Amino acid sequence: FEQLSTVDPEIAGVVLGELERLRGGLQLIASENLTSPAVLAALGSTLTNKYAEGYPGRRYYGGCAEVDRAEELAVARATELFGAEHANVQPHSGASANLAAYAALVQPGDTVLAMDLPHGGHLTHGSRVNFSGTWFHPVGYTVRPDTETIDYDEVRDLARAHRPKMIICGATAYPRLIDFARFREIADEVDAYLMVDAAHFIGLVAGGAIPSPVPHADVVTATTHKVLRGPRGGMILCRESLAARIDKAVFPFTQGGPLMHAVAAKAVALREAAQPEFRTYAAQVVGNARALADGLAAEGLRPVSGGTDTHLALLDLRETGVTGAQAEARCDAAGITLNKNAIPYDPQSPMVASGVRVGTPSVTTQGMRDPEMRRIAALICRAVRTDPESPGGTDELARVAADVTELVTAFPAYPRG
Ligand code: PLP
Repeated sequence: FEQLSTVDPEIAGVVLGELERLRGGLQLIASENLTSPAVLAALGSTLTNKYAEGYPGRRYYGGCAEVDRAEELAVARATELFGAEHANVQPHSGASANLAAYAALVQPGDTVLAMDLPHGGHLTHGSRVNFSGTWFHPVGYTVRPDTETIDYDEVRDLARAHRPKMIICGATAYPRLIDFARFREIADEVDAYLMVDAAHFIGLVAGGAIPSPVPHADVVTATTHKVLRGPRGGMILCRESLAARIDKAVFPFTQGGPLMHAVAAKAVALREAAQPEFRTYAAQVVGNARALADGLAAEGLRPVSGGTDTHLALLDLRETGVTGAQAEARCDAAGITLNKNAIPYDPQSPMVASGVRVGTPSVTTQGMRDPEMRRIAALICRAVRTDPESPGGTDELARVAADVTELVTAFPAYPRG
């Protein structure tokens, strides 16, 4: 770090500033986490220098013996941890992993059935502003208006009507378990591939906190930086029969040289995820999300679908009269980082939104448990209900911020020293 401060004080300032931001506030973004120093060490290593197009033992560059070992370790750890026949650890991100999965399984113009974005799906599941909705023919399924959970009858009816080549399940803002076996049945009925986008919850699968999609899916795509707590990046798991197609779809079809420092850091994270402590952590992530959702419900913020089975909760703020965008800004002013989020059948535009999404990976990594979740629920509610324009509003937000500081000081992110 001293070198960085000397060479580029401005960027050194950014790095330090971000560390202080992480230490000073509550991080409740469901897709974020706090990686270990070991993962950070691999990421900040000389492996970033190496070109290694190809795969271990079959590279287009010399000098790959060391990075080959890193990739072999990452692949072996991923296949073992998830009981998968094949793993590709090269995708630069979750979206890149999804692009490669499409490239391996479907052709431009093919129909793909996936969850609608406003109901919790991801951009890569058929949004018009993304490759998935431009190059393919997207058909969206929704959640039921009454239960706010996936309507499997609707999924089956849409599959029968549209005969998709691929069905996708797995979402960005869906708090409930997904019935992978049911999706498999529907996919088999219409002879479609089943892709599970496990970007959000693969870490819960690694820790045994929720059922695995691997036995049911043709292809599982994932990110490595969310609950899994690894470096920013993507990963694909599949059956041996699809391995060659997936590998070719990642390189050379959608990517060039892999980021070998990230691949090595993925190996480190996968090793960490195989330890018994990770199972405790994954169970606590879910326990914390439940406690947080219950605490928020008790304070009058309604969890969509009534609660959560995973690491995140989606809150419907309509009864408070506060929009998602306002809630995000008020929480931000109080040192609580979360994001506005559309809720199913949201009357607001996505930039305003009627909800916020909260997740527990980071606070769980910091060692917080049920009592802290109840405190966080109360802090969020105070912030959401405080209009900064109202008399005394900014003072109240400052008091919430002081309470946040007290809490995070007792559970520090990246403890000093
Ligand atoms: N798939 C899902 C379900 C996601 O939630 C995300 C990101 O949040 C992605 C894919 C894309 O991951 P990335 O941001 O690494 O491209």
